[in-house]
Amino acid sequence: MEEASQNTETVKKVFIQTYGCQMNEYDTEKMFEVLKHQNYFQTDSREDADLIILNTCSIREKAENKVYSELGRLRKLKSVKPELKIGVGGCVAQQEGKAILRREASVDFVFGTDNLFELPEMLKKVSRGQEIIQTKRHARQKVRNFIPEYAFQQTQHHGIKAHLAITKGCNNHCSFCVVPFTRGIEVSREPENILAEAQRLTSAGTREICLLGQNVNSYKANGVDFVELLHRLDELENLQRLRFISPHPKDFHEELADAFVTLPSLCEQMHLPLQSGSDRILRRMRRWYTMETFYEKVAMLRDRLPEATLSTDLIVGFPGETEEEFEMTMEAVRTIRFDLIYSFKYSTRPGTRAAEYPEHLAEDVKSKRLQILLETQGKIVQEKNEALVGSIQEVLVQGKHYRKNSITGRTRGNHSVHINDSCAIAGDLLSVRITGALHNSLEAEIISKSTVLS
Ligand code: SF4
Repeated sequence: MEEASQNTETVKKVFIQTYGCQMNEYDTEKMFEVLKHQNYFQTDSREDADLIILNTCSIREKAENKVYSELGRLRKLKSVKPELKIGVGGCVAQQEGKAILRREASVDFVFGTDNLFELPEMLKKVSRGQEIIQTKRHARQKVRNFIPEYAFQQTQHHGIKAHLAITKGCNNHCSFCVVPFTRGIEVSREPENILAEAQRLTSAGTREICLLGQNVNSYKANGVDFVELLHRLDELENLQRLRFISPHPKDFHEELADAFVTLPSLCEQMHLPLQSGSDRILRRMRRWYTMETFYEKVAMLRDRLPEATLSTDLIVGFPGETEEEFEMTMEAVRTIRFDLIYSFKYSTRPGTRAAEYPEHLAEDVKSKRLQILLETQGKIVQEKNEALVGSIQEVLVQGKHYRKNSITGRTRGNHSVHINDSCAIAGDLLSVRITGALHNSLEAEIISKSTVLS
Protein backbone atom coordinates (compact mmCIF):
# COMPACT_ATOMS: atom_id res chain seq x y z
CA MET A 1 0.00 0.00 0.00
CA GLU A 2 1.33 3.46 -0.97
CA GLU A 3 1.11 6.32 1.48
CA ALA A 4 -0.84 9.44 0.63
CA SER A 5 1.37 12.50 0.28
CA GLN A 6 -0.80 14.76 2.40
CA ASN A 7 -2.26 14.05 5.75
CA THR A 8 -5.68 15.21 6.78
CA GLU A 9 -8.55 13.50 8.52
CA THR A 10 -10.27 12.70 5.19
CA VAL A 11 -7.89 10.01 3.93
CA LYS A 12 -9.65 7.45 1.72
CA LYS A 13 -8.74 4.28 -0.11
CA VAL A 14 -8.75 3.67 -3.85
CA PHE A 15 -8.59 0.44 -5.82
CA ILE A 16 -7.84 0.61 -9.55
CA GLN A 17 -8.33 -2.38 -11.83
CA THR A 18 -6.32 -2.04 -15.05
CA TYR A 19 -7.12 -3.84 -18.28
CA GLY A 20 -5.12 -3.95 -21.51
CA CYS A 21 -1.85 -2.47 -22.62
CA GLN A 22 1.16 -0.75 -21.06
CA MET A 23 -0.36 2.63 -21.89
CA ASN A 24 -3.28 1.81 -19.59
CA GLU A 25 -0.88 0.66 -16.87
CA TYR A 26 0.93 3.96 -17.24
CA ASP A 27 -2.35 5.90 -17.04
CA THR A 28 -3.22 3.98 -13.88
CA GLU A 29 0.08 5.04 -12.29
CA LYS A 30 -0.78 8.63 -13.12
CA MET A 31 -4.27 8.25 -11.64
CA PHE A 32 -2.67 7.10 -8.39
CA GLU A 33 -0.43 10.18 -8.48
CA VAL A 34 -3.43 12.48 -9.02
CA LEU A 35 -5.44 10.76 -6.29
CA LYS A 36 -2.56 10.90 -3.82
CA HIS A 37 -2.88 14.68 -4.01
CA GLN A 38 -6.51 14.16 -2.99
CA ASN A 39 -5.50 12.08 0.06
CA TYR A 40 -6.30 8.68 -1.36
CA PHE A 41 -4.30 5.62 -0.28
CA GLN A 42 -3.86 2.78 -2.72
CA THR A 43 -5.46 -0.47 -1.54
CA ASP A 44 -5.26 -3.95 -3.04
CA SER A 45 -8.73 -4.85 -1.83
CA ARG A 46 -11.99 -3.93 -3.55
CA GLU A 47 -13.90 -4.56 -0.32
CA ASP A 48 -11.70 -2.09 1.53
CA ALA A 49 -11.96 0.70 -1.04
CA ASP A 50 -13.96 3.94 -0.90
CA LEU A 51 -13.36 4.47 -4.58
CA ILE A 52 -13.00 1.85 -7.31
CA ILE A 53 -11.89 2.76 -10.83
CA LEU A 54 -11.86 0.39 -13.79
CA ASN A 55 -9.29 1.54 -16.34
CA THR A 56 -10.67 -0.24 -19.38
CA CYS A 57 -9.46 -1.59 -22.71
CA SER A 58 -11.50 -2.04 -25.89
CA ILE A 59 -8.86 -3.43 -28.23
CA ARG A 60 -10.65 -6.81 -28.25
CA GLU A 61 -14.21 -7.85 -27.52
CA LYS A 62 -13.04 -10.16 -24.72
CA ALA A 63 -11.41 -7.28 -22.79
CA GLU A 64 -14.59 -5.20 -23.10
CA ASN A 65 -16.79 -8.05 -21.85
CA LYS A 66 -14.56 -8.43 -18.80
CA VAL A 67 -15.38 -4.85 -17.79
CA TYR A 68 -19.11 -5.48 -17.74
CA SER A 69 -18.65 -8.74 -15.79
CA GLU A 70 -16.57 -6.85 -13.23
CA LEU A 71 -19.20 -4.10 -13.00
CA GLY A 72 -21.78 -6.80 -12.23
CA ARG A 73 -19.66 -8.00 -9.30
CA LEU A 74 -19.13 -4.43 -8.08
CA ARG A 75 -22.90 -3.82 -8.14
CA LYS A 76 -23.23 -6.46 -5.41
CA LEU A 77 -20.45 -4.83 -3.40
CA LYS A 78 -22.14 -1.44 -3.69
CA SER A 79 -25.47 -2.87 -2.53
CA VAL A 80 -23.87 -3.60 0.87
CA LYS A 81 -21.66 -0.49 0.83
CA PRO A 82 -23.75 2.30 -0.75
CA GLU A 83 -21.16 5.03 -0.03
CA LEU A 84 -18.69 3.29 -2.40
CA LYS A 85 -17.96 5.36 -5.54
CA ILE A 86 -17.34 3.59 -8.83
CA GLY A 87 -15.69 5.17 -11.87
CA VAL A 88 -14.98 3.80 -15.33
CA GLY A 89 -12.10 5.27 -17.34
CA GLY A 90 -9.98 4.29 -20.34
CA CYS A 91 -10.90 3.18 -23.84
CA VAL A 92 -14.31 1.57 -23.23
CA ALA A 93 -15.33 4.68 -21.29
CA GLN A 94 -14.17 6.94 -24.14
CA GLN A 95 -16.20 4.98 -26.68
CA GLU A 96 -19.29 4.08 -24.69
CA GLY A 97 -19.65 7.17 -22.46
CA LYS A 98 -23.25 7.53 -21.34
CA ALA A 99 -24.13 3.97 -22.38
CA ILE A 100 -22.12 2.65 -19.41
CA LEU A 101 -24.19 4.69 -16.95
CA ARG A 102 -27.37 3.51 -18.64
CA ARG A 103 -26.30 -0.12 -18.57
CA GLU A 104 -24.85 -0.17 -15.06
CA ALA A 105 -26.60 1.99 -12.46
CA SER A 106 -23.91 1.43 -9.82
CA VAL A 107 -21.41 3.51 -11.85
CA ASP A 108 -21.02 7.09 -10.54
CA PHE A 109 -18.73 8.52 -13.18
CA VAL A 110 -17.26 7.82 -16.59
CA PHE A 111 -14.17 9.54 -17.95
CA GLY A 112 -12.22 9.33 -21.18
CA THR A 113 -8.56 8.85 -22.05
CA ASP A 114 -7.94 12.61 -22.13
CA ASN A 115 -9.59 13.31 -18.77
CA LEU A 116 -7.72 11.46 -16.05
CA PHE A 117 -6.18 14.67 -14.72
CA GLU A 118 -9.69 16.02 -14.16
CA LEU A 119 -10.35 13.34 -11.52
CA PRO A 120 -10.29 15.84 -8.58
CA GLU A 121 -13.10 17.96 -10.06
CA MET A 122 -15.07 14.87 -11.05
CA LEU A 123 -14.82 13.42 -7.55
CA LYS A 124 -16.04 16.69 -6.00
CA LYS A 125 -19.12 16.59 -8.20
CA VAL A 126 -19.69 12.91 -7.51
CA SER A 127 -19.56 13.58 -3.75
CA ARG A 128 -22.38 16.11 -4.32
CA GLY A 129 -24.42 13.35 -5.92
CA GLN A 130 -23.89 14.41 -9.53
CA GLU A 131 -23.55 11.81 -12.27
CA ILE A 132 -20.49 12.56 -14.40
CA ILE A 133 -19.62 11.76 -17.99
CA GLN A 134 -16.35 13.44 -18.92
CA THR A 135 -15.07 12.20 -22.25
CA LYS A 136 -14.32 15.54 -23.90
CA ARG A 137 -11.16 15.62 -25.99
CA HIS A 138 -8.65 18.40 -25.45
CA ALA A 139 -7.65 20.77 -28.20
CA ARG A 140 -6.38 19.10 -31.36
CA GLN A 141 -2.74 20.06 -30.84
CA LYS A 142 0.02 17.92 -32.28
CA VAL A 143 2.41 18.77 -29.44
CA ARG A 144 1.23 18.96 -25.87
CA ASN A 145 2.35 18.16 -22.34
CA PHE A 146 -0.38 15.64 -21.70
CA ILE A 147 1.29 14.64 -18.41
CA PRO A 148 1.40 17.65 -16.07
CA GLU A 149 4.64 17.97 -14.10
CA TYR A 150 3.03 17.48 -10.69
CA ALA A 151 2.10 13.93 -11.77
CA PHE A 152 5.75 12.87 -11.84
CA GLN A 153 7.20 14.98 -9.06
CA GLN A 154 6.53 12.43 -6.32
CA THR A 155 9.47 10.73 -4.65
CA GLN A 156 7.74 7.37 -5.14
CA HIS A 157 10.11 4.62 -6.27
CA HIS A 158 8.76 3.23 -9.54
CA GLY A 159 10.97 0.19 -9.51
CA ILE A 160 13.92 -0.79 -11.63
CA LYS A 161 11.84 -0.59 -14.81
CA ALA A 162 9.37 2.13 -15.72
CA HIS A 163 7.22 3.14 -18.64
CA LEU A 164 7.20 6.66 -19.98
CA ALA A 165 4.60 7.90 -22.49
CA ILE A 166 5.97 10.12 -25.26
CA THR A 167 3.04 10.12 -27.68
CA LYS A 168 -0.64 9.39 -27.36
CA GLY A 169 -3.24 8.65 -29.98
CA CYS A 170 -2.68 7.52 -33.54
CA ASN A 171 -3.36 8.84 -37.03
CA ASN A 172 -2.90 5.58 -38.90
CA HIS A 173 -6.43 4.18 -38.82
CA CYS A 174 -5.50 0.57 -39.45
CA SER A 175 -8.80 -0.96 -40.46
CA PHE A 176 -9.03 -3.35 -37.47
CA CYS A 177 -8.05 -0.92 -34.71
CA VAL A 178 -10.09 1.24 -32.32
CA VAL A 179 -7.15 3.21 -30.95
CA PRO A 180 -7.65 6.28 -33.18
CA PHE A 181 -11.25 6.46 -31.84
CA THR A 182 -10.43 5.79 -28.19
CA ARG A 183 -7.16 7.73 -27.92
CA GLY A 184 -7.69 10.39 -30.56
CA ILE A 185 -5.23 11.97 -32.94
CA GLU A 186 -1.51 11.53 -32.41
CA VAL A 187 -0.03 14.00 -29.94
CA SER A 188 3.70 14.18 -29.18
CA ARG A 189 4.83 15.35 -25.78
CA GLU A 190 7.37 18.17 -25.47
CA PRO A 191 10.92 16.75 -25.17
CA GLU A 192 11.72 18.89 -22.10
CA ASN A 193 8.71 17.44 -20.30
CA ILE A 194 9.73 13.86 -21.23
CA LEU A 195 13.33 14.43 -20.12
CA ALA A 196 12.13 15.90 -16.82
CA GLU A 197 10.10 12.77 -16.11
CA ALA A 198 12.97 10.49 -17.18
CA GLN A 199 15.33 12.43 -14.91
CA ARG A 200 12.86 12.11 -12.07
CA LEU A 201 12.64 8.34 -12.61
CA THR A 202 16.39 7.72 -12.77
CA SER A 203 16.95 9.87 -9.66
CA ALA A 204 14.41 7.67 -7.85
CA GLY A 205 16.24 4.45 -8.81
CA THR A 206 14.78 3.44 -12.18
CA ARG A 207 17.42 1.87 -14.42
CA GLU A 208 15.37 0.87 -17.45
CA ILE A 209 12.86 3.06 -19.25
CA CYS A 210 10.47 1.82 -21.90
CA LEU A 211 9.07 4.64 -24.03
CA LEU A 212 5.40 4.26 -24.86
CA GLY A 213 3.30 5.41 -27.77
CA GLN A 214 0.72 3.87 -30.07
CA ASN A 215 3.04 4.74 -32.95
CA VAL A 216 6.04 5.60 -30.84
CA ASN A 217 8.60 6.08 -33.62
CA SER A 218 6.58 8.77 -35.40
CA TYR A 219 7.33 11.06 -32.43
CA LYS A 220 8.09 14.66 -33.37
CA ALA A 221 7.88 17.72 -31.13
CA ASN A 222 9.56 21.12 -31.19
CA GLY A 223 11.97 20.01 -33.92
CA VAL A 224 13.01 16.86 -32.02
CA ASP A 225 12.29 13.58 -33.78
CA PHE A 226 12.30 10.08 -32.28
CA VAL A 227 15.98 9.34 -32.93
CA GLU A 228 17.04 12.70 -31.48
CA LEU A 229 14.91 12.01 -28.40
CA LEU A 230 16.65 8.64 -27.96
CA HIS A 231 20.01 10.41 -28.15
CA ARG A 232 18.97 12.89 -25.47
CA LEU A 233 17.66 10.17 -23.16
CA ASP A 234 20.78 8.10 -23.66
CA GLU A 235 22.79 10.90 -22.07
CA LEU A 236 20.95 10.58 -18.75
CA GLU A 237 23.20 9.54 -15.92
CA ASN A 238 22.22 6.18 -14.37
CA LEU A 239 19.96 5.16 -17.22
CA GLN A 240 21.21 1.70 -18.12
CA ARG A 241 18.58 0.57 -20.57
CA LEU A 242 16.19 2.15 -23.01
CA ARG A 243 13.44 0.38 -24.97
CA PHE A 244 10.34 1.51 -26.82
CA ILE A 245 6.98 0.14 -27.81
CA SER A 246 5.07 0.07 -30.14
CA PRO A 247 6.70 1.24 -33.37
CA HIS A 248 5.18 1.11 -36.84
CA PRO A 249 7.31 -0.54 -39.57
CA LYS A 250 6.65 2.39 -41.93
CA ASP A 251 8.56 4.69 -39.54
CA PHE A 252 11.50 2.33 -38.98
CA HIS A 253 14.35 3.79 -41.04
CA GLU A 254 18.14 3.74 -41.31
CA GLU A 255 18.72 6.45 -38.66
CA LEU A 256 16.76 4.47 -36.11
CA ALA A 257 18.57 1.24 -37.04
CA ASP A 258 21.89 3.10 -36.58
CA ALA A 259 20.81 4.27 -33.13
CA PHE A 260 20.79 0.63 -31.98
CA VAL A 261 24.50 0.54 -32.73
CA THR A 262 25.53 3.97 -31.48
CA LEU A 263 23.48 4.40 -28.28
CA PRO A 264 24.82 2.31 -25.38
CA SER A 265 21.53 2.32 -23.47
CA LEU A 266 19.32 1.29 -26.40
CA CYS A 267 18.73 -2.43 -25.95
CA GLU A 268 19.21 -4.85 -28.83
CA GLN A 269 15.54 -5.63 -29.05
CA MET A 270 12.90 -4.47 -31.49
CA HIS A 271 9.18 -4.97 -31.74
CA LEU A 272 8.06 -4.73 -35.35
CA PRO A 273 4.35 -5.48 -35.75
CA LEU A 274 3.78 -7.44 -38.97
CA GLN A 275 0.07 -8.35 -38.53
CA SER A 276 -0.13 -10.50 -41.70
CA GLY A 277 2.22 -12.13 -44.23
CA SER A 278 -0.10 -11.44 -47.16
CA ASP A 279 0.21 -8.19 -49.16
CA ARG A 280 -3.49 -8.25 -49.99
CA ILE A 281 -4.47 -8.58 -46.33
CA LEU A 282 -1.94 -5.90 -45.35
CA ARG A 283 -3.62 -3.53 -47.82
CA ARG A 284 -7.03 -4.37 -46.40
CA MET A 285 -5.59 -3.74 -42.94
CA ARG A 286 -4.32 -0.34 -44.19
CA ARG A 287 -0.80 -1.11 -42.95
CA TRP A 288 1.02 0.65 -45.83
CA TYR A 289 3.94 -1.76 -46.24
CA THR A 290 4.40 -4.94 -48.23
CA MET A 291 6.17 -8.15 -47.27
CA GLU A 292 9.08 -7.05 -49.42
CA THR A 293 9.53 -3.82 -47.47
CA PHE A 294 9.00 -5.64 -44.18
CA TYR A 295 11.80 -8.10 -45.02
CA GLU A 296 13.99 -5.08 -45.86
CA LYS A 297 13.29 -3.56 -42.43
CA VAL A 298 14.18 -6.84 -40.71
CA ALA A 299 17.44 -6.97 -42.70
CA MET A 300 18.15 -3.32 -41.78
CA LEU A 301 18.18 -4.34 -38.11
CA ARG A 302 19.84 -7.74 -38.46
CA ASP A 303 22.61 -6.48 -40.77
CA ARG A 304 23.68 -4.15 -37.98
CA LEU A 305 22.84 -6.37 -35.02
CA PRO A 306 22.53 -10.05 -35.92
CA GLU A 307 21.92 -10.93 -32.27
CA ALA A 308 19.02 -8.46 -31.78
CA THR A 309 15.78 -10.05 -30.63
CA LEU A 310 12.75 -9.35 -32.74
CA SER A 311 9.13 -9.61 -31.69
CA THR A 312 5.92 -8.99 -33.61
CA ASP A 313 2.11 -8.86 -33.54
CA LEU A 314 0.06 -11.12 -35.78
CA ILE A 315 -3.66 -11.28 -36.44
CA VAL A 316 -5.07 -14.51 -37.83
CA GLY A 317 -8.48 -14.86 -39.44
CA PHE A 318 -8.80 -11.28 -40.69
CA PRO A 319 -12.00 -10.90 -42.79
CA GLY A 320 -11.47 -12.60 -46.15
CA GLU A 321 -8.15 -14.25 -45.19
CA THR A 322 -7.84 -17.40 -47.31
CA GLU A 323 -5.92 -20.56 -46.41
CA GLU A 324 -3.19 -19.44 -48.86
CA GLU A 325 -2.95 -16.03 -47.22
CA PHE A 326 -2.74 -17.60 -43.78
CA GLU A 327 0.05 -19.82 -45.15
CA MET A 328 1.87 -16.61 -46.23
CA THR A 329 1.83 -15.51 -42.59
CA MET A 330 3.21 -18.91 -41.60
CA GLU A 331 5.91 -18.58 -44.24
CA ALA A 332 6.92 -15.18 -42.82
CA VAL A 333 7.05 -16.68 -39.30
CA ARG A 334 9.23 -19.58 -40.46
CA THR A 335 11.51 -17.28 -42.48
CA ILE A 336 11.97 -14.39 -40.04
CA ARG A 337 11.98 -16.58 -36.93
CA PHE A 338 10.75 -13.99 -34.44
CA ASP A 339 11.87 -14.41 -30.86
CA LEU A 340 8.39 -13.62 -29.60
CA ILE A 341 4.98 -13.14 -31.17
CA TYR A 342 1.80 -11.66 -29.78
CA SER A 343 -0.84 -13.39 -31.83
CA PHE A 344 -4.58 -12.88 -31.82
CA LYS A 345 -7.67 -14.10 -33.57
CA TYR A 346 -9.27 -11.21 -35.42
CA SER A 347 -11.93 -9.63 -33.22
CA THR A 348 -14.56 -7.31 -34.69
CA ARG A 349 -14.44 -3.83 -33.23
CA PRO A 350 -17.53 -1.71 -33.86
CA GLY A 351 -16.81 1.51 -35.72
CA THR A 352 -13.73 0.22 -37.56
CA ARG A 353 -13.58 -0.29 -41.33
CA ALA A 354 -12.85 -3.99 -41.00
CA ALA A 355 -16.09 -4.46 -39.06
CA GLU A 356 -17.90 -3.55 -42.30
CA TYR A 357 -15.82 -5.88 -44.49
CA PRO A 358 -17.58 -8.96 -45.90
CA GLU A 359 -16.32 -12.53 -45.43
CA HIS A 360 -15.86 -12.66 -41.67
CA LEU A 361 -14.41 -16.03 -40.77
CA ALA A 362 -15.98 -18.62 -38.48
CA GLU A 363 -14.58 -18.79 -34.95
CA ASP A 364 -13.41 -22.39 -35.37
CA VAL A 365 -11.38 -21.46 -38.49
CA LYS A 366 -9.70 -18.61 -36.61
CA SER A 367 -9.02 -20.84 -33.60
CA LYS A 368 -7.47 -23.55 -35.76
CA ARG A 369 -5.18 -21.06 -37.52
CA LEU A 370 -4.10 -19.56 -34.21
CA GLN A 371 -3.28 -23.01 -32.86
CA ILE A 372 -1.15 -23.84 -35.94
CA LEU A 373 0.68 -20.54 -35.57
CA LEU A 374 1.33 -21.02 -31.86
CA GLU A 375 2.64 -24.55 -32.33
CA THR A 376 5.12 -23.45 -34.99
CA GLN A 377 6.20 -20.42 -32.99
CA GLY A 378 6.60 -22.55 -29.84
CA LYS A 379 9.16 -24.73 -31.63
CA ILE A 380 11.03 -21.68 -32.98
CA VAL A 381 11.25 -20.13 -29.50
CA GLN A 382 12.48 -23.40 -27.99
CA GLU A 383 15.19 -23.70 -30.67
CA LYS A 384 16.22 -20.06 -30.29
CA ASN A 385 16.35 -20.32 -26.51
CA GLU A 386 18.45 -23.51 -26.74
CA ALA A 387 20.87 -21.73 -29.08
CA LEU A 388 21.51 -19.22 -26.29
CA VAL A 389 22.75 -21.91 -23.88
CA GLY A 390 26.44 -21.28 -23.18
CA SER A 391 26.27 -17.62 -24.25
CA ILE A 392 27.28 -14.76 -21.96
CA GLN A 393 24.54 -12.22 -21.30
CA GLU A 394 24.09 -9.06 -19.29
CA VAL A 395 21.17 -9.33 -16.86
CA LEU A 396 19.51 -6.49 -15.00
CA VAL A 397 18.16 -8.02 -11.78
CA GLN A 398 14.52 -7.28 -11.14
CA GLY A 399 14.13 -9.06 -7.81
CA LYS A 400 13.56 -12.39 -6.10
CA HIS A 401 12.18 -15.32 -8.04
CA TYR A 402 9.34 -17.31 -6.48
CA ARG A 403 11.77 -20.26 -6.19
CA LYS A 404 13.71 -20.13 -2.91
CA ASN A 405 17.16 -18.49 -3.09
CA SER A 406 16.64 -17.46 -6.70
CA ILE A 407 16.55 -14.16 -8.49
CA THR A 408 15.07 -13.08 -11.77
CA GLY A 409 16.00 -10.47 -14.36
CA ARG A 410 16.10 -9.64 -18.05
CA THR A 411 18.79 -9.71 -20.70
CA ARG A 412 19.25 -6.73 -23.02
CA GLY A 413 17.33 -8.78 -25.58
CA ASN A 414 14.48 -8.90 -23.03
CA HIS A 415 14.69 -12.63 -22.29
CA SER A 416 13.49 -13.52 -18.84
CA VAL A 417 16.32 -15.19 -16.87
CA HIS A 418 16.21 -17.09 -13.58
CA ILE A 419 19.36 -17.46 -11.54
CA ASN A 420 19.71 -19.97 -8.75
CA ASP A 421 21.63 -17.61 -6.53
CA SER A 422 20.47 -14.92 -4.15
CA CYS A 423 23.61 -12.82 -3.88
CA ALA A 424 22.27 -10.01 -6.09
CA ILE A 425 19.43 -7.56 -5.55
CA ALA A 426 17.09 -5.57 -7.77
CA GLY A 427 19.08 -3.06 -9.81
CA ASP A 428 22.30 -5.10 -9.92
CA LEU A 429 23.78 -5.61 -13.35
CA LEU A 430 25.22 -9.09 -13.82
CA SER A 431 27.29 -10.91 -16.34
CA VAL A 432 25.81 -14.43 -16.58
CA ARG A 433 26.29 -17.64 -18.53
CA ILE A 434 23.07 -19.21 -19.86
CA THR A 435 22.81 -22.77 -18.58
CA GLY A 436 19.34 -23.85 -19.58
CA ALA A 437 16.47 -23.07 -21.93
CA LEU A 438 12.88 -23.35 -20.78
CA HIS A 439 9.83 -22.60 -22.91
CA ASN A 440 9.45 -18.95 -21.94
CA SER A 441 12.62 -18.22 -20.05
CA LEU A 442 16.29 -19.02 -19.55
CA GLU A 443 18.34 -20.28 -16.62
CA ALA A 444 21.77 -18.88 -15.86
CA GLU A 445 24.71 -18.78 -13.48
CA ILE A 446 26.49 -15.61 -12.41
CA ILE A 447 29.96 -14.95 -13.81
CA SER A 448 30.39 -11.54 -12.24
CA LYS A 449 28.47 -8.70 -10.77
CA SER A 450 29.78 -6.12 -13.20
CA THR A 451 28.05 -3.11 -11.71
CA VAL A 452 26.07 -2.49 -8.59
CA LEU A 453 23.59 0.19 -9.40
CA SER A 454 21.32 0.26 -6.42
S1 SF4 B 1 -0.72 1.94 -35.83
FE1 SF4 B 1 -1.29 0.67 -34.07
S2 SF4 B 1 -2.52 2.01 -32.75
FE2 SF4 B 1 -2.41 3.00 -34.77
S3 SF4 B 1 -4.29 2.32 -35.82
FE3 SF4 B 1 -2.62 0.89 -36.41
S4 SF4 B 1 -2.75 -0.82 -34.92
FE4 SF4 B 1 -3.97 0.91 -34.09
